[in-house]
Amino acid sequence: MVYSSSDEAVSLLSELIQNECVNPPGNELKSVRTVQSALQEHGIESRVFESAPNRGNLIARISGSGDGPTLMFGPSHVDVVPVEDADSWEEDPFSGIVKEGYVWGRGALDMLFIVATQVRAFIELHEEGFQPRGDLILLVVSDEEAGGTLGAGWMVENHPELIRTDYAVTEAGGVSISPGKILFMAGEKGVARKRVSFRGKAGHGSMPYGSDNAVVKLSEAVTRLSRYDPPVTTEHLGHVAQGLDLGFVQRLMLTNSWLLPITLSRLEGREPVMAMLMHGLSRMTISPNIVHGGVKVNVIPEKAYVDLDIRTLPGQDEDYVISHLRKALGPLADEAVIEDPPGTEKRLMSFGSASPTQSEFVDAMERAVRREIPGGTLVPLIMPAASDCRHVRKQGAEAYGFSLFDPETPTNHLADLAHGTNERVSVRTLELTQRVYYHLAKDFLG
Ligand SMILES: [Zn+2]
Repeated sequence: MVYSSSDEAVSLLSELIQNECVNPPGNELKSVRTVQSALQEHGIESRVFESAPNRGNLIARISGSGDGPTLMFGPSHVDVVPVEDADSWEEDPFSGIVKEGYVWGRGALDMLFIVATQVRAFIELHEEGFQPRGDLILLVVSDEEAGGTLGAGWMVENHPELIRTDYAVTEAGGVSISPGKILFMAGEKGVARKRVSFRGKAGHGSMPYGSDNAVVKLSEAVTRLSRYDPPVTTEHLGHVAQGLDLGFVQRLMLTNSWLLPITLSRLEGREPVMAMLMHGLSRMTISPNIVHGGVKVNVIPEKAYVDLDIRTLPGQDEDYVISHLRKALGPLADEAVIEDPPGTEKRLMSFGSASPTQSEFVDAMERAVRREIPGGTLVPLIMPAASDCRHVRKQGAEAYGFSLFDPETPTNHLADLAHGTNERVSVRTLELTQRVYYHLAKDFLG
């Protein structure tokens, strides 16, 4: 059977964009219902769970005979991030317009094109009476952009039995980093947010001699934190180097922790995005992003703090974070108070997680890619940011970011557009991605 063209995926994507499920507040039920009616048109039953007013998640399933592994399309989120300046867009960010081979709009890349192609591949398989060995599950969720508490996390909490799966494929990956070398996401970094505060002694700003100024201490702390080098591991870069078939010298440059700083500074000029990525994949990162101190210009400040965005590698826990913050602060550590920023919802914290980079399933993903890009190979990467994969990994699933971009798409272009201005995805990418999902399910579950 030849699957139909991706026209349906394109119009489904446009509709999801037009639904404008900006989180906050999300209101994703609208898009969940859009998916539900697309399934209904083909007689596919689905269940919708409302996790909060106007928020919800959908699950559908093609039941297997029970003698094989289960695979999930998802968790795939329908919420999108806000648009900062709609006027700077070439097209209305919620038009979902198709222009010059691209579908335009907020969420096109992150990740509505995946929702649309997964739904369509699921329908195709249902339409042709596909009988999988293990269940094929479709899970569409809310709230990923705010941590997933009402989406994938909510499903794990409230209906763990329904979403249990051996394997899952969802957003990210699919980008060619060199001809025939296509990324997939095998894991993700964790997120920790910490506040470091200092106290001084209030006094008159006219006589600062010998004063104990909280802002002065803080500024030294910020400098120390930003210059600190946490321990480097090249484990995850090693997987990348292997996937890229790098020559001996290049591999050494990337996987030897003594040479890595030189490699990064060379890369920085030529391929800044790659340099940032490689840096983030090799260590915990600390970014001091909010500072606050002082109340009045003629008063020596008594209190000052910095809020840090910290990203951890799989296996690095809270103790690891705190001990390195203390090291970074050096002589200031004893005076500093390190705590969670007030109002930080626990949901913004997560641990890094990863799935195997080599397995029968990874081979099946690679076969699906090779049908479209002859000789193509998959290269595993750890995502610098958190995704919903961690929720299903917690339940024992091996979860991957897997899709297939038009190989012509430049990597930098993608990094700029996701969450950015003029976000758009090519129709060709929709076609390719729908096909890899379709063939992956048929091959692995068939
Ligand atoms: Zn996303």
